[in-house]
Amino acid sequence: MSWDERQRAMLAEMGYRLPAVSAAAEAVEVAEAEPEPIEVAAPPPPVMRVAAAPSVQPSNFSGLDLAALREAVAGCRACGLCEQRRNAVFGAGALQQAQWLVVTDPPDEADDASGEAMSADAGRLLDRMLSAAGQRRGGDDATAFVTPIVKCRPPRGRPPQPAELVACEAVLARQAELLRPRLVLAMGLQAARRLTGLAEPLGKLRGRVHSWRDVPVVVTYHPAYLLRSPADKAGAWDDLCLARMTSKA
Ligand code: SF4
Repeated sequence: MSWDERQRAMLAEMGYRLPAVSAAAEAVEVAEAEPEPIEVAAPPPPVMRVAAAPSVQPSNFSGLDLAALREAVAGCRACGLCEQRRNAVFGAGALQQAQWLVVTDPPDEADDASGEAMSADAGRLLDRMLSAAGQRRGGDDATAFVTPIVKCRPPRGRPPQPAELVACEAVLARQAELLRPRLVLAMGLQAARRLTGLAEPLGKLRGRVHSWRDVPVVVTYHPAYLLRSPADKAGAWDDLCLARMTSKA
């Protein structure tokens, strides 16, 4: 991958330091700097799986286009998370086909208040990460769609329960049908475990390509975590490189 000035600035903001190179070496780097192939691990040995396997209940969302689906989600009462939400968070980004479907952990308090996905500081970091990887969630030429794994904030930020995850996966499944992404980027432990079906630590889910509904899935840190743990931004960049390479394969 060759780095233009904008990408260099964004990588610096993410905490990823590109090695200093001479002008002559720069040409070599341009040719060779494509992220080193990250070995796609062989299927992992049998491990503990998430309690509720990612089977999806019959949904009432089939046949809806994106606008109608957004409206349906705003009034959805398919699980108990509707009781205490202020706003359902449908997500935003590409309106037609999306190259990347970015699935995050559940909405936080700011998202619940605004109804917007990743609306605060973590959202700004997410936008810089996407931009550095050549993706955009805003504007007419958006290439990514960002949405939470469940659309309503669980009370006091607790993890969503298996039945809530199953109920809301019907929404996510319809979003994926409509957006036909080349890749799903799972950001955060709850999104990663649900989409991989594996109850492993996030560190063990990163660095390999999973599959959800025949779409490749790459796992990375949630931007809110990266704000608290900037030392892991370089690892997040590795994940974005794997996602970029996978979505172009
Ligand atoms: S979390 Fe999902 S399934 Fe549950 S009420 Fe909200 S939109 Fe409906």
